[in-house]
Amino acid sequence: MESDAVTCPSCNGAGGGAGIVCGSKGCRPMTLSCSLCNGTGTVAPLKVEWFKRGAAMRERRKAAGRTLRQEANLRGMTQVELSKMEAGRIEPVEDAGGLDD
Ligand SMILES: [Zn+2]
Repeated sequence: MESDAVTCPSCNGAGGGAGIVCGSKGCRPMTLSCSLCNGTGTVAPLKVEWFKRGAAMRERRKAAGRTLRQEANLRGMTQVELSKMEAGRIEPVEDAGGLDD
């Protein structure tokens, strides 16, 4: 157990929420585990920092009118990587080329 774990900012400690999962047999409703805390409801403080930075990164991208795809191209990374960054699942890195400020 991590003694310094804090409430997950993505699901507010709920560990997940209702969602729809689609597979080869069609779609069905089920409870989805939160991707940030993996359903535990708590995360390390570092992840909270990543979550905040990722959210700020997404806001800047939207303010600049760029899609996930455009931003990923500008940064030289895949959309999957950028998506994970914006969700705080991997460490967000600031704009390498000083795109904004
Ligand atoms: Zn969570």
